[in-house]
Amino acid sequence: MNRQCTLADSVYVEGVGVHTGRHARVTVRPADADSGIVFCVDGKRIPALAEYVVATDRCTTLGVNGVRVMTVEHLMSALAGLGVDNAEIVVDGEEIPVLDGSGLAWAKRFHEAGIRELQAERRRVPLARPVSVMAGDRGIWAMPHPERLLIATVRFEHPLVGTQVAWFDLDKIDYLEEIAPARTFGFWEEVEALLARGKALGGSLENALVIFPDRYSAPLRFPDEVLRHKVLDLIGDIALVGAQVEALFVAIKPSHALNTAFALALRQTILGE
Ligand SMILES: [Zn+2]
Repeated sequence: MNRQCTLADSVYVEGVGVHTGRHARVTVRPADADSGIVFCVDGKRIPALAEYVVATDRCTTLGVNGVRVMTVEHLMSALAGLGVDNAEIVVDGEEIPVLDGSGLAWAKRFHEAGIRELQAERRRVPLARPVSVMAGDRGIWAMPHPERLLIATVRFEHPLVGTQVAWFDLDKIDYLEEIAPARTFGFWEEVEALLARGKALGGSLENALVIFPDRYSAPLRFPDEVLRHKVLDLIGDIALVGAQVEALFVAIKPSHALNTAFALALRQTILGE
């Protein structure tokens, strides 16, 4: 039986949020079967489900009844990537710390804490019909398939990046090695514009890969690190479905807005069946 999992022990992390520049303290605690992933902010509980997404401008923000938590995607991705179905995330602050801009610190800490199997069977749902969300030249599709496979592509008009495409078996991938280390990236012109708009206040060369016209700000961790970071974000956003969906996923130029709209469509489809 494919059983649900939680953490064997609590994990505590603190740091600065990339968008707000504000410090936050986060404790990720083990939780019972069927409780899912839940954020606790100011004493209120925000389930990590697509219907609680309240903003998608450069990061995924969850909220309920006047409380919100920004930039949940890398933490969500690391939990999903390591197969953690249930956890309670207590946040003292407004934005999840960016750490090094990847999911590596989270994934390492969860791996060290240990993953504990629970008695209940994992919620894994076959897809009865295709689901898609499209916007302009972007799109994400899910087609019924017995495994969980992902084909992803990005395309940037930049000589160092260009078109990158790869496929991943989401059930067999070594998340810690192959996805978690891929860092948040930004093109230099974009980073300048964000700073001018008062965004990316916690951004620095320590927590993001900056892409200059002729070079990267640091050595790449993967030749296709840009694509892998988009896959990291997508895994985190699709975790907002609240179940593993058996499907062949195709993602073309994914973004948080698209990913979370897709997660909601997928969730509505499986709940409606
Ligand atoms: Zn990201």
